[in-house]
Amino acid sequence: MKMNCWKCKADMKRIKDKFHNFTIDAWKCTNCKEIIYDEKDIQPILQYNKLKENKKELITTVGALGKSKIIRIPKIAEQLFEIHKGEKLKFDLKPDEIIIRIKNK
Ligand SMILES: [Zn+2]
Repeated sequence: MKMNCWKCKADMKRIKDKFHNFTIDAWKCTNCKEIIYDEKDIQPILQYNKLKENKKELITTVGALGKSKIIRIPKIAEQLFEIHKGEKLKFDLKPDEIIIRIKNK
């Protein structure tokens, strides 16, 4: 995929950039340094920020599948981290919390 800067028409290159502390793919102009993001990448981050502003939390309910307990990945997390079926998630256990890590990040 190729992209040209909307300001100066120069070539843009793929970079990783911080957007509200999340690292996402972006395009950076090789000439004027303009940075643009894909709508689909920033949308879930903006949604998440709005959730935080409204003091809301991401809550998921524990279900059961046979003898196993299962949890659903909140939609917003699925979009934010592009989590797909079959993806391996790593659990870090702390005395009072579980940290779920995306292995490919
Ligand atoms: Zn430019």
